[in-house]
Amino acid sequence: AVERTPEIQEARLQLPVVAEEQKIMEAIHNNDVVVVWGATGSGKTTQVPQFLYEAGYGAPDGPTPGMIGVTQPRRVAAVSMSKRVGDELGSEKAKVAYQIRFDTSTSAKTAVKFMTDGVLLREISQDFILTKYSAIVIDEAHERSVNTDILIGMLSRIVDLRADLAKKDPKKNKPLKLIIMSATLRISDFTDNKRLFRQGPPPLLKAEGRQYEVTNHFARKTQRDYVEEMFRKVCRGHRKLPRGGMLVFLTGQNEITHLAKRLRQTFTSSQSKEVTTGKVQISPEQTSLETEDIELGANKDDYHDDDGSDSDDSIITGLDNDEDKDEFEDEGGFDIEEGETESEELKVHVLPLYSQLPTNQQMRVFDAPPEGSRLIVLATNVAETSLTIPGIRYVFDCGRAKEKKYDLTTGVQTFEVGWISKASANQRAGRAGRTGPGHCYRLYSSAVFERDFDEYAEPEIMRTPLEAVVLQLKSMGAPVLGFPFPTPPDRTNLQKAENLLLYLGAVSLDGKVTKLGHELSLYPLNPRFARILVMGVAQNLTAQTIALVAALSAPELITPENKLGLREPPLADPSHIRTEQDNVEAEERSRLRKAYNKALAKLAVNAKHSDCIKLNNAVCAYAYESDGDAFCEDMFLNAKAMREAGQLRQQLTSIVRAHRPTALSAYQTKLPAPSSSEVNLLAQICAAGFIDQIALRADLAPIPPELPRKPKTAIDVPYLTLFSSTSQRASKEDPARQYVYLHPSSLLARTPPAKLPAYIIYSHLQRAAPSTVDATTSPKTR
Ligand code: ADP
Ligand code: MG
Repeated sequence: AVERTPEIQEARLQLPVVAEEQKIMEAIHNNDVVVVWGATGSGKTTQVPQFLYEAGYGAPDGPTPGMIGVTQPRRVAAVSMSKRVGDELGSEKAKVAYQIRFDTSTSAKTAVKFMTDGVLLREISQDFILTKYSAIVIDEAHERSVNTDILIGMLSRIVDLRADLAKKDPKKNKPLKLIIMSATLRISDFTDNKRLFRQGPPPLLKAEGRQYEVTNHFARKTQRDYVEEMFRKVCRGHRKLPRGGMLVFLTGQNEITHLAKRLRQTFTSSQSKEVTTGKVQISPEQTSLETEDIELGANKDDYHDDDGSDSDDSIITGLDNDEDKDEFEDEGGFDIEEGETESEELKVHVLPLYSQLPTNQQMRVFDAPPEGSRLIVLATNVAETSLTIPGIRYVFDCGRAKEKKYDLTTGVQTFEVGWISKASANQRAGRAGRTGPGHCYRLYSSAVFERDFDEYAEPEIMRTPLEAVVLQLKSMGAPVLGFPFPTPPDRTNLQKAENLLLYLGAVSLDGKVTKLGHELSLYPLNPRFARILVMGVAQNLTAQTIALVAALSAPELITPENKLGLREPPLADPSHIRTEQDNVEAEERSRLRKAYNKALAKLAVNAKHSDCIKLNNAVCAYAYESDGDAFCEDMFLNAKAMREAGQLRQQLTSIVRAHRPTALSAYQTKLPAPSSSEVNLLAQICAAGFIDQIALRADLAPIPPELPRKPKTAIDVPYLTLFSSTSQRASKEDPARQYVYLHPSSLLARTPPAKLPAYIIYSHLQRAAPSTVDATTSPKTR
């Protein structure tokens, strides 16, 4: 039996979900699929797995052996929730573990396993009926990530299969229980979906009420420059508000580092310098893509950091300081404790939280802040779901998020800052009410909220390329058109994915997965990268190609120039007198820029203008360094991404070796930089993965463009894409938009225009002003 500490016992009794334990367990007992709804903080994530455990699930000798699997959309959620549930289970702590890509704490004892949805998907591809599990909890289903949607579709079938097997041989086979949990009531996509649950709609169990009140405060006006406004609000809040942690929602890493720096400059900080902590443990187990990986491009595009609200006339550009002077003063609802004065002397303990940060550094937000300081967590929407950060009493919400958009007709992907949904705003606010009553300060007016915020965010499957999903489904023998998607994606998008798989040779003309396609699906990689890898193996360049593919799949290896903090000071007003401080800063900027250019030049040595070789060089050079983090700092590389690229190299090596024992010898960390002929070969291999993404220099086209003036730099030289994309389609509407251009970060961007290659292979198109081709490419001049 489970023995819990008295504090935990008492805390559990307060939770609305605990009041429903009996009903929930009865429903699970009587149905294979159950939906549980409860507001954020009601106890879903922490309690439901414990109910199952205490009811005997996960006990090897009980009537329902097999683990309880719980999925989370984010790594940090999987790790932190497994810790919390372990703590709550007291005497049974050792039974709870987590598994995320590259890291796991599981053992033979594990009865409750928290994992990212990507991990479970991968397990399904290896063991379709999930023999090891007795129950699966899909948590945060309202987030509607692609992985969650695919999981729910597959599990609906797996549950049926397991039920059939159990009927045939009840001794040997047990049914699988599926529990879908959501914090919003938009669950009709699951419950009313006849294709999804053929036995009829699953019962819905509601846990009414939330644990603590959260008071929402809307801004009277909505400022355009929300980072500046956030700085102002957080400063005022810190001065005025009683003790309690703050959780600040922004849209990206850049904004977070900027704000963190300013807050530490403005107030006494409890941290002298950023501390870095130890290495993440490695496990080369095969796991699949996770949200973090799918975010790949999320930061590639900061060239247009606007807030996507230009057309909104109620957004204010100027500062309007007096407007909400008293917002923190008529709080009410706070019992200012004895001896607790206004927080003027309180230090700040500022911690960032975003997905590019190593998981162990993300976990620092769960530690108590130093005595006499206020915890201020600056987060992206990583913190929006699942997490309980102890002591958070105030949430500051900018109301925006960086969202992946995907233009189905042109295939152009963008990452734009836009308004979040009402449901997300409520999730964010909910983070303030988890360990006590709280307040949420919204940087937008209630009018903007009502008028411009969608009720719910659009499911991710509607705005993302689907080649990985389609290949995965096909290789498991699942129908694609008939697949029980909770929300079926657009047919043209599915068709596009199918066409790409055809180009790659992964499917045949009749839509069947080829031998090559099956091989591609073995790798936890986008099919394009898997194709490159297989090609490299065939060319006897296995170890090199593995490094290349690891480099290509890592999110943002090289810090882009706009993230160096090189931002020039705002155009000075004429009365501003240049100070010593200005000079120091200008010098610092110029020093940094020089160092950056030097580092890039080093990586470009022998790359022959190919950005993919540049990335490959970074990975190869890193492997030779004893102090990887120092190397990353000197070379402006992202340490987390570099470490993960290293881990991915190991993982891919073991998969290739398992599949083709003769293809390469055991994993060797160090890999010499490719020779000149190998560089040529690698560039060609790389092109095989982007066979449909070729652009031709426009002046060489049958009808060359009439340009108003001769391009001065490489990034002004227009190219035309050869296959479907912006070019042909957009030209009818707006001739200027048919061209694509090199991205300024490309090596080719530094080439004299006359020397630019006739053809380039590009990794993706991204909309900016003007549209750019991000040439993570090899120039192909045949
Ligand atoms: P839900 O999944 O319904 O949003 P959770 O099960 O995650 O809710 O959390 C329920 C409550 O458990 C929280 O509101 C909080 O009071 C408490 N709790 C969860 N994790 C922690 C933690 N790490 N430290 C302290 N309290 C926690
Ligand atoms: Mg939860």
